[in-house]
Amino acid sequence: MAGMVAAVKQNPFEIAQTQLDKAAKKLGLDAGVHAVLREPMRELHVSLPVKMDDGTIKVFKGFRVQYNDARGPNKGGIRFHPEETIDTVRALAAWMTWKCAVVDSPLGGGKGGVICNPKTMSTMELERLSRAYIDAIGRIIGPGKDIPAPDVYTTPQIMGWMMDEFSKLAGFYSPGVITGKPLSVGGSEGRGDATARGGAYTVREAAKNLGIDMNGATCAIQGFGNAGQFAALLNKQLYNMRIIAVSDTRGGVYSEDGLDPVALVDYKLRTGSVVNFPGTRPISNEDLLELSVDVLAPSALEGVITSSNASRIRAKIVEELANGPMTPEADDILYKKGIFVIPDFLCNAGGVTVSYFEWVQNVYGLYWEESEVHEKLDRKMTKAFRDVYDMARGHEVDMRTAAYMVAIQRVAEAMQVRGWV
Ligand code: NAD
Repeated sequence: MAGMVAAVKQNPFEIAQTQLDKAAKKLGLDAGVHAVLREPMRELHVSLPVKMDDGTIKVFKGFRVQYNDARGPNKGGIRFHPEETIDTVRALAAWMTWKCAVVDSPLGGGKGGVICNPKTMSTMELERLSRAYIDAIGRIIGPGKDIPAPDVYTTPQIMGWMMDEFSKLAGFYSPGVITGKPLSVGGSEGRGDATARGGAYTVREAAKNLGIDMNGATCAIQGFGNAGQFAALLNKQLYNMRIIAVSDTRGGVYSEDGLDPVALVDYKLRTGSVVNFPGTRPISNEDLLELSVDVLAPSALEGVITSSNASRIRAKIVEELANGPMTPEADDILYKKGIFVIPDFLCNAGGVTVSYFEWVQNVYGLYWEESEVHEKLDRKMTKAFRDVYDMARGHEVDMRTAAYMVAIQRVAEAMQVRGWV
């Protein structure tokens, strides 16, 4: 949940702990269990000497945090970022723990990071850094221990190098050590659109509960990258929703009759932006958020719905594909207005769920067709939505608090059954 980091200028790990504290209080969580859940189980700090193309040696700092593996091997991405900090990695590892638990994957949470600027490094330097990182953390990762994945500035190619390095250390081909790999080395069908597809399934469930007919329902999407483009394509293709507005960094476009997402994706590919898409009128990012629509999908940045615009939000459902698009103050305002928010770590958990499927396929050595991935993803997301919805109704809390409660309760129960607390 990288977004949450910047949303509030506070130590990200303190934010994660505060969120846990709030849910623990609602759940009446045992003090001992709570204390264990406030800290990462394990973290490894490494120094990585890498030979640069000019012959010099540069030493990079890296981390791997394993937050809690009560429910299964840790799972979480590796970030290559110049401003990486251990507290960011700790917070992200905590959030991964809750995300895997809310969709009931048999996985714990982890995260990794290397302080570096990949934009200034050559391909060969990046490959050497990737391999050095795996050499350094190799003994604590593995298909049954901790399974990394791509994250900020790490790519399927980097996952390929890392898998290769781990396989060399292990002495055998080990695709299950890492997910987000290219298909040729054990990647999964259906990973590309998994985040938006998972989100679409949760919107369908929300609409069902709210009595909203999806056919022809209106939708506005902020952000037109991986998550936003697939959200537009899928919300139209699966449910015939009318996508009336989308935006990117350069601006937005609006059409009362609905945009053609396929043509719009093609247009963005050719021109680099959605701006001036034929048959539309311009709309600002701010106005897009305040449209009266059935579904609003913030799919770009953190902290875009705040106390200053929350009272003007008129959507019926907020599909939080971005991480942390809403501040806690905005959350309260929307809840009081009766706007139904599908919280980020439930709404965008489709990506990690298909990563989980990738690991399962690697471990079995048996690969599924795309339709099978979709069907299994639907079942997981639908069940997760219902669990959170029932918790929200049962405790009269908002969906975000309920999602934390479901996740934390599951991790706590696993710790208790294993006799840790
Ligand atoms: P991306 O980089 O592919 O796309 C981001 C899009 O947002 C771009 O179209 C960009 O133009 C747009 N954007 C940036 N600033 C904007 C602004 N001020 N106003 C409007 N649009 C703006 O990123 P992505 O992978 O689609 O991720 C988007 C969000 O979804 C992030 O918060 C990310 O953490 C979250 N997320 C993505 C995935 C995934 O699988 N891709 C999974 C979980 C969560």
